[in-house]
Amino acid sequence: MTSVILPGTVIDGRPATLGVLGGGQLGRMFVHAAQALGYDTVVLDPDPASPAGRVSHHQIATGYRDADGLRELAACALAITTEFENVPAEALAELARTRPVAPAAEAVAIAQDRIREKAHFARCAASGGVAPAPHAVIEREADLADVPAGLLPGILKTARLGYDGKGQARVATRDELAAAWASMGRVACVLEKMLPLACECSVIVARGRDGQVVSLPVQRNLHRGGILAVTEVFEGNVPAASADIAQAATIKIANELDYVGVLCVEYFVLDSGELVVNEMAPRPHNSGHYTVDACDASQFDLQVRALAGLPLAPPRQHSAAVMLNLLGDLWFDAHGAPRALPWREVLALPGAHLHLYGKTEARRGRKMGHLTFTGASAETARGNALRAAALLGIEPF
Ligand code: ATP
Ligand code: MG
Repeated sequence: MTSVILPGTVIDGRPATLGVLGGGQLGRMFVHAAQALGYDTVVLDPDPASPAGRVSHHQIATGYRDADGLRELAACALAITTEFENVPAEALAELARTRPVAPAAEAVAIAQDRIREKAHFARCAASGGVAPAPHAVIEREADLADVPAGLLPGILKTARLGYDGKGQARVATRDELAAAWASMGRVACVLEKMLPLACECSVIVARGRDGQVVSLPVQRNLHRGGILAVTEVFEGNVPAASADIAQAATIKIANELDYVGVLCVEYFVLDSGELVVNEMAPRPHNSGHYTVDACDASQFDLQVRALAGLPLAPPRQHSAAVMLNLLGDLWFDAHGAPRALPWREVLALPGAHLHLYGKTEARRGRKMGHLTFTGASAETARGNALRAAALLGIEPF
């Protein structure tokens, strides 16, 4: 198997092709980064008009388990990555029989399952990492009675297929816990103690096949309604001691998985200052979108390099950055009627970088794009981001 695919490689008269499973905005930005290095790209996504498919050289519009689609992907791409974590791990395993695949099916399978994910975090914590929230696994009726009283009030989360706060219920009593578990269809869940959060942050690392790891700066994240709303990245966004611990813990989590590719780990900073690890995403992350405009290597550049077996030079942030997520809600007025967005005024603000994902239909909660403000100082970037937020109708932060 070829493990290094140098830029400029030509095969059968065409540039070497890199593949991605999933055609969402993360796939689209992967495609942009791969194309900048001269690679051709192929996207597999059931939607023939997916955001990544629209900009890729090749696309395969089949399901993720479709044997013909996977065969075609392996025939076309020299190496394959994924852009969403609920891609069937078996599909990655199948592709890995003939092509380098990063991240590996096993690492993705762990990230897909909160029970296995928390067990991995706990193992890393035992040798100096950061611990997950106190929690209990609920897989059968009898587990409900065994839940320690100290975990309530808590948050019940399905072990699989949760995202953007979906598949979660806040429960204060045992009765509420039993009712919430029943309403989730009695699937495997984790009950987590509700913690007093001072703020949330995340760390993105990239790790190569040779074990080289590089880290991006710690991102401070504000969630609204369970969805990322704002990411702020500049000196002092989180206490320096917490930032160092979170970066070291993320590198440990990646190393212990023998991970290859880009990995994002989310943390809580508690009122006490203590750090708690929440979850990981085996791919670039919404909180890392600012890297495209504020760093000398973006999270997508690092994904391409890790996949192609190229060196991972340590990335440097050159501008303070504030990123606003643009959800479909903004495309409607207070009466639910479609409205035009004030891009002319927004783009007149210094340091504005608008990214729209080419989605033709706005829906509430749907990620339509993001807007990053860069500046020479945190105050400049924040000031302009707040002006844009006011123009767009995003609540101040
Ligand atoms: P994502 O889109 O990041 O994958 P998710 O649906 O998987 O989200 P989590 O990240 O587990 O969900 O939780 C969503 C948000 O809910 C967190 O960012 C945090 O604001 C809040 N939250 C989750 N767990 C806890 C907890 N144990 N204590 C307090 N708040 C929590
Ligand atoms: Mg999360």
